[in-house]
Amino acid sequence: MKLLSVIVPCYNEEENIRDFYDELMKNASFFESNGLEAEVIYIDDGSRDRTVERIKEVAASDPRVHMVSFSRNFGKEAAIYAGLQKAKGDYAVLMDCDLQDPPALLPEMFRYIWEGYDSVATRRVTRKGEPVIRSFFARMFYRIINKISRTEIVDGARDYRLMTRQVVDSILAMAEYNRFTKGIFGWVGYETKWLEYENIERKKGETKWSFWKLFLYSIDGITAFSTVPLAIASFMGVLFCVVAFLMILFIIVRKLMFGDPTSGWPSMVCIVLMCSGIQLFCLGIVGQYLSKTYMEVKRRPLYLVKEEL
Ligand code: UDP
Ligand code: MG
Repeated sequence: MKLLSVIVPCYNEEENIRDFYDELMKNASFFESNGLEAEVIYIDDGSRDRTVERIKEVAASDPRVHMVSFSRNFGKEAAIYAGLQKAKGDYAVLMDCDLQDPPALLPEMFRYIWEGYDSVATRRVTRKGEPVIRSFFARMFYRIINKISRTEIVDGARDYRLMTRQVVDSILAMAEYNRFTKGIFGWVGYETKWLEYENIERKKGETKWSFWKLFLYSIDGITAFSTVPLAIASFMGVLFCVVAFLMILFIIVRKLMFGDPTSGWPSMVCIVLMCSGIQLFCLGIVGQYLSKTYMEVKRRPLYLVKEEL
């Protein structure tokens, strides 16, 4: 028998806990006929509703269901890491609780694993049902990050992914504080098969990601997998020095040849404003990296467990 660990991060998902379990267990005969045993690890990410109670109810009826409950909301990345740490399986799969990651895809995913792939990942091909502005920024983000990062980060990739033990251990070896899973998957490499499917809308409850949260997450992604913004900052510094030098030459020559009277006060103000703006912008970029480094060197735990089952 081989063990499959199903890792499910949950944050305020009381309506979905049971539904998810039922949907997953529709694969029971597939598991059985293929010598697989499944354990479900719900990671309660500091939910404020009755998520923990719901998980306990499910766990009471099935000893293969486990729970790790955080002391507060640490974010999905921390939940994923905790889940992978607790997983004992020969295989592990990450799934959202809201059934946007259909468990019915598991048999197909396993087919590829048995064919020899190390991990099977999913990406959605449409962003149907998502606000237009959000899709636009998401596309921009993927285009930019893939230009400035050597790690491949796939547009539309979901966190729904089946992995062998080897891949799980590799991901666990990356114990960084600022976690950007989509980049980490790309970084560890291995043979990955991509499955595509149409976006499925959340069954119950609502999304936990506001636009602002996604924006901050995108900065996490960029700073974690690229240092190009730092290079841009120094490039701009050099560029403006050159421009300034040429302007000085121009002014000196003009003064010597035409005895130019003092003028140009408005243009001066514009230049000063622009240069200080760019300086602050570059300082901001440096600040971003500094703050990430600062959090990293503190070596704080990624999460704290309040209760385990
Ligand atoms: N989630 C979590 N912690 C958070 C936010 C979300 O564990 O701080 C979980 C959530 O319960 C869900 C999954 O991450 O199972 C994906 O979240 P959601 O469906 O809200 O994101 P979306 O699918 O809209 O991108
Ligand atoms: Mg969702």
